[in-house]
Amino acid sequence: MKKPGTAQRHRPLAPRPSLDWMNHMACRDANPTIFTEPEMADFALSFCRRCTVTAECEDLMTRNASRERSHRPQGVWGGKAHYPRQPGRPKR
Ligand code: SF4
Repeated sequence: MKKPGTAQRHRPLAPRPSLDWMNHMACRDANPTIFTEPEMADFALSFCRRCTVTAECEDLMTRNASRERSHRPQGVWGGKAHYPRQPGRPKR
């Protein structure tokens, strides 16, 4: 319990990375559901193939996934399809 009159110390927050790159996403105006439906993966990847910020996209998703250990991102991001392998489905 904090004693009255004692100053609370805060660790300085790490600077947040800029998200300006999001202005250059090829999928910026696309329907986000195409990036989450496995049946739409090829169409979603067609956006990624002409995207200039795939590294930034992948980095963001990797950081989000490691922040929430139970969260396993699925879908298309960073120019790759991330879906569990299904029998008979070729690996992308
Ligand atoms: S790499 Fe693909 S999912 Fe990521 S921003 Fe670019 S187009 Fe969108």
